[in-house]
Amino acid sequence: MNVIEGTAEGVTLDIKRMFIPGVFLKSDCPTCNQTITKDFEKEYFSYPRVGVPTEFYFLCESDKEKGGYCNTEWVVKVTLQISLTLVEEGSP
Ligand SMILES: [Zn+2]
Repeated sequence: MNVIEGTAEGVTLDIKRMFIPGVFLKSDCPTCNQTITKDFEKEYFSYPRVGVPTEFYFLCESDKEKGGYCNTEWVVKVTLQISLTLVEEGSP
């Protein structure tokens, strides 16, 4: 029998910068509703900790609003999760 046990909750990974290409964080500006996208191929987790909220800072540079740039700032928290999955015999 093969079993995976345990949790990495709270563990700090020995990685200075962790990029996750293919994953995006999208957030709507609370002022003008413009959707801002963070691309984790360019944004990164700094010394990532598993299961601990990490804040990502957003700045809306939309100029849709009359009279200049929106300039709204806000923060979105995300949590990094890591999981292992057993590969069954016969799977690629
Ligand atoms: Zn905005």
